[in-house]
Amino acid sequence: GLSVENVTVRFGEVTAVDAVSLGIPRGEVFALLGPSGSGKSSLLRAIAGLEPCTGDIRWDDESVMRMPPHRRRFALMFQDGQLFPHLDVAGNVGYALRVSTRASGATRPAIAQRVAELLDLVGLAGFERRRVTDLSGGEQQRVALARSLAASPRLLLLDEPLSSLDRELRERLAGELRDILRATGVTAILVTHDHDEAGVIADRIGILDAGRLVQTGTLAELRAHPVDDRVARFLS
Ligand code: ATP
Ligand code: MG
Repeated sequence: GLSVENVTVRFGEVTAVDAVSLGIPRGEVFALLGPSGSGKSSLLRAIAGLEPCTGDIRWDDESVMRMPPHRRRFALMFQDGQLFPHLDVAGNVGYALRVSTRASGATRPAIAQRVAELLDLVGLAGFERRRVTDLSGGEQQRVALARSLAASPRLLLLDEPLSSLDRELRERLAGELRDILRATGVTAILVTHDHDEAGVIADRIGILDAGRLVQTGTLAELRAHPVDDRVARFLS
């Protein structure tokens, strides 16, 4: 699993992430919850290798600190999935597979098969030839999720994947996202500032406040025994 040890991210005078330590066993879905500016995205980007930090980040006892982002095999999915508008759905989902094919020697039918499986997993069976620009916001997020899963990442990092969607769709997709993550067994960190969404999707929740990880536990545990008034108010 993932081990984050004493990780600090600074932007000049601002300490965005302040000495955070956190362990996430394989297969766990962990939610990072906290108010705006608490350092959630900065911590996620540091884990992904996109933000310089101090401390150590390990996967199964191997430090990934000196590994470039692609060698970590951690996939990061942003708020708006950032699909390639000039490629169709299959082109987007299969992108990472085609790039790695040159090394692995996977055949075109094998890639098409994998793309079909991934689309089925996210509830978009048969969408291969659709233009991504014609899809609804929720459909685009599912394509982005399928694309993130395509490379079989050992860790999936999701930064507010549902926040651009309207409330109704967000609630429906939260349940679907939980089921998809469970079905793949992938280890994941989900950033959100919605505690109900965190409770639905994640096994455990960590609360960030001003860059510090102030408490971790299940939503029920955090609600029953908040460490302070700020956490209590934030979860109510
Ligand atoms: P939100 O919920 O609004 O997305 P967040 O919890 O993701 O917030 P971060 O984006 O990690 O918060 O920001 C944490 C702190 O670091 C903030 O004070 C922010 O202004 C600062 N910060 C983030 N990125 C940069 C940057 N590239 N340069 C300077 N300061 C930054
Ligand atoms: Mg953020």
